[in-house]
Amino acid sequence: MKKIAIIGCGISGLYFANQLQNKQNYDYTIFEKKSAIDLNDGYGIQLSVNSIKLLNEIGFQNIAAHEISFPKKVNFFNAKTSKKICDIDISKFNNESIRYTTLKRSILIKFLLSNIPAEKIKNNIELKNLEYGEKIKLHLSNKLIEEFDYLVVSDGVFSKTKSIIFKKDTSPKFFNSVALRGNIQNMDSNDISLYLGPNFHFVIYPVNQSKEFNFISIIRKKLSKEEIINQNLFKNNELLESLTKEIFQKTSLDLNSKLKNIKFFPVYVSKKLEIFSKKKIYFVGDALFAFPPSFAQGASQSIEASKEVYEEINNNTNNYYYKRLKKIKKVNWRSKINHFSFHLSNPIAIFIRNLILKHLSKNHKFLESYLGKIYKN
Ligand SMILES: Cc1cc2nc3c(=O)[nH]c(=O)nc-3n(C[C@H](O)[C@H](O)[C@H](O)COP(=O)(O)OP(=O)(O)OC[C@H]3O[C@@H](n4cnc5c(N)ncnc54)[C@H](O)[C@@H]3O)c2cc1C
Repeated sequence: MKKIAIIGCGISGLYFANQLQNKQNYDYTIFEKKSAIDLNDGYGIQLSVNSIKLLNEIGFQNIAAHEISFPKKVNFFNAKTSKKICDIDISKFNNESIRYTTLKRSILIKFLLSNIPAEKIKNNIELKNLEYGEKIKLHLSNKLIEEFDYLVVSDGVFSKTKSIIFKKDTSPKFFNSVALRGNIQNMDSNDISLYLGPNFHFVIYPVNQSKEFNFISIIRKKLSKEEIINQNLFKNNELLESLTKEIFQKTSLDLNSKLKNIKFFPVYVSKKLEIFSKKKIYFVGDALFAFPPSFAQGASQSIEASKEVYEEINNNTNNYYYKRLKKIKKVNWRSKINHFSFHLSNPIAIFIRNLILKHLSKNHKFLESYLGKIYKN
């Protein structure tokens, strides 16, 4: 029986654990830094068909229908006037059981946890050091040393484990943007609404069948080095108020009375893709590569990567990083293009962008290439 250590109990680590669960050849343990997993988070997540297909393999299709939503379109609006620019039919990539899905992040985590026996998760533990030989020896923060055949690193964008393994600082970079999140009730549309403004965009989508919606805005913001490392800055109510006021003033949509539970946080992305050459140690999810959030692919790619690592171990192959690198490049440049074009501020550039958007949103060849290539595993 092969022993596998998983570091980090987020979307990627849990999906990987689900693949191993009930397979007799594997025994696994998840080490999680936090004392408990936050299951009260009401914020949302979008999952495209590439990850829904993989989630269905572990029973996601049985999730209660009232807990999820199936938006069919992405509607683009001018944030200032709320005038519609165009729409993209994302349902054309669906089939009967595999549909673009939006839901609360906590519902996804609850589902991923539901198949994992509690004793498989060791909380309050992180990696301190490791030695490789025949086996991988983990020196853990509880002072224990444990041996494994494989190590899967899934501890997110600030992966400390990555810095330990690479023996250097692998911290991500600030993306000159902050994210503002909140909850909205009772919107009219059951689709995804994307509002484009100068130097910001925001997205509203349903998270269930109870008229609850997620609001997420990405706002360009330069911060000094001191501000970035200041942990208290993002707890600062004045900064939160000034950011929300800025967005409220720049849109004709009445967010002020609707938006609840607003929080904000800095957006970090990976500096570059670091490939680890030693076999039997795999990075997945944001620990492998964190994308700009403007293509809503982070979680879907995390799930894809975890599936690929499972297949790599199970089939004893050696092409995980080769395949992943190709996909990461495709997703990364699309995320960057989206971010750039969503945030244009020059009126002439905006006019031209809108014309291009209207044209491309109805161009099947373009959509097959821009979205279809990503939505296929
Ligand atoms: C604003 C924003 C919006 C987004 N929206 C979407 C979206 O709509 N759709 C989408 O697909 N993606 C989205 N993403 C991206 C997505 O959330 C991430 O890509 C995804 O959560 C990554 O999963 P993960 O398992 O790699 O990491 P995480 O979910 O971050 O999990 C990491 C886990 O590791 C634990 N951990 C951390 N350090 C250690 C340690 N040293 N030792 C042990 N455990 C540790 C953490 O506590 C956590 O439980 C968004 C991201 C942002 C920033």
